[in-house]
Amino acid sequence: MDIDKFRKAGYDAINRICDYHSSLPMKPVVAQVKPGYLHHLIPDSAPQKGQEWVSIVEDYEKFIIPGLTHWQHPSFFAYFPAAGTFEGMLGELLSSSTTNPGFNWFASPASTELEGVVMDWAAKMFGLKDIFWNVNGAGGGVIQASASDSALTAIVAARIRYLNEHPGTMLESLVIYITTQTHSLGEKAAMILGLRVRALDVDKAVAIHNIGLTGEVLKAAVKEDHARGLHPFVLVATVGTTSSGAIDQVADVGFIIKQSFPSIWLHVDAAWAGVTLACPEYREAAQLPGINEYADSLCINFHKWGLINHDASAFWVRERRRLIDAFEITPEFLRTKEGDAGIVIDYRNWHLSLSRRFRSLKFWFVLRSFGVDGFQANIRKGISLNDSFVERIRASPIFELVTPPSFALTVFRLLPRSAGNTTELESINALNREFYGALQSRPNLVLTQTLIGEVFCVRFAVGAARTELIDIDNAWEVIKEVGESTLESWAM
Ligand code: PLP
Repeated sequence: MDIDKFRKAGYDAINRICDYHSSLPMKPVVAQVKPGYLHHLIPDSAPQKGQEWVSIVEDYEKFIIPGLTHWQHPSFFAYFPAAGTFEGMLGELLSSSTTNPGFNWFASPASTELEGVVMDWAAKMFGLKDIFWNVNGAGGGVIQASASDSALTAIVAARIRYLNEHPGTMLESLVIYITTQTHSLGEKAAMILGLRVRALDVDKAVAIHNIGLTGEVLKAAVKEDHARGLHPFVLVATVGTTSSGAIDQVADVGFIIKQSFPSIWLHVDAAWAGVTLACPEYREAAQLPGINEYADSLCINFHKWGLINHDASAFWVRERRRLIDAFEITPEFLRTKEGDAGIVIDYRNWHLSLSRRFRSLKFWFVLRSFGVDGFQANIRKGISLNDSFVERIRASPIFELVTPPSFALTVFRLLPRSAGNTTELESINALNREFYGALQSRPNLVLTQTLIGEVFCVRFAVGAARTELIDIDNAWEVIKEVGESTLESWAM
C-alpha cells in the first residue's frame, strides 16, 4: 500500500469504525457463532497474490465483526468494562504510525519522556504521594501491558529484595501471599516463578461486608508460616476484587507489615477499582491513605474503567531501584551515554520485555481530551448507574444482594419462592445456575457469574462508556422477566 492508497483506506477505515459504533445498540452483545465458525469462512492459507484493501475490509465486516463480543455495547455488563474511547483509538493509530520499540531513552526520547509525564499526571489525579512520581526520582510509574504483568514484575522485584536482605534463604521456602479472592494473577505468578503461594481465607468477611484481608488475618498467617520455616515475602492485596469488588484493608495490613514483617513487599492490585481514586469522595474507600503510606507497588488498569484502550496498565513503585535491581541487564549493544550517566529513565529495566509499545500517547490524548473533570464524571456516572440497579435489586422480592455493592459492581442472586426445602445452598445454587443459563441465552445483554465461597451468584458490572440509564432500565426488565420465568419453571 503506498501513501495515496493508505490515505484513502485510512479515511475508509475511520468511516467504518464510526458506522460500527453507531450501529452497536442494534447488534446482539454476544457473538452468535459456534466454535470453529471462522475456519469455514476464510481460506486455510495466506493468498499467494496481495489483495486490495476493499476486499480485505469487506471480509472483515462480513466474517470478523459477527464473531466479536461487543464490549463497547451499552448493554455489556459482564466481567469488567474494556475502555474504548475515540481518543484512545487515535492514540493507538498515531503511536503505531511511528512504530518504534522505545526500550531506552535514546531509542525514542519522546516515548520515554511522555510516559514519565503521563504517569505523573495520573499519579497526581489519583492523589498518590510524590514518592511515586517519576519527576522525583525515588519511585515512579511505568505503563505495562496488563495487571498480570504488573503483579509478576512486583513479585520478581520483591523476591530479589527479600533475597538480598536474607541471603541464603532457600527458594523453596519463599511464599507469595494472596487471598481466596485475589485474581488468578497471583497463582499464575507463582506458577511462572515456581514458588509457593498461600491464599488467606477471606470468604466470610467478603460475604458479610465485602471487606477482604485484615491485619489480624495476615499476622496469624505469617506467624504460622515462620514457625514452619517458610518465608512469606510478598502480599498481593486487592482493592476491588474481580468477583465482588471486595477491598483488602490496605492501611491495616500495611501497618502490620511495617511494624512486624518489614521484609514483606506490599503490592496493591487495584486493576479495576483504582480509577475511583480520581474522585476525592472515594479515596478513603479505595484505600488511598494505606496505599500512600505502605504500598511498595500499585497497579491500576486504565484499560478497564479508565477510558484508555487496551493495553494500558499503570504500575507505580515506591523505589524504582528495586525494579532495576531485578531487571537491569545491559549488554554493550544496549548501552547509551545517557543511560550510563544515569540522567534518563530506561524503561527496559523496569519490567520483563525489552521492546515496548508507545502507549503513553493514548494516555496523553485521553487525559487531555477528558481532563480530570471528564475522568471523574465517567467514574461518578458508572457508580450512579450501578446505584440505580442496586435500588431495583433491593426493592425486588425475587432477588437479593449477595455482597454489599462495590463502586460500579453488583453481585446478586435469585431467591427461591418459598422457603420449603429450597433453602439448601445446593438447591439455591442450582436455581441460580438455571437463571444465569437463561440470561446467557438472551442476546441483548451480557452478565457473568461467580462464586463467593460456595455461593453461586451473578455479577452486574457497569462502566462501558456508552451505557446510560435507559440501558440499566432495559437490562433490569430482562433480568426481572428471566428471574420470574425461572422461578415459575422451578415451581413446576
Ligand atoms: N486484577 C483484578 C482485580 C481484575 O479484576 C483483573 C481482571 O479483570 C485483573 C487483575 C487482570 O487484569 P489484566 O487482564 O490486566 O491482567
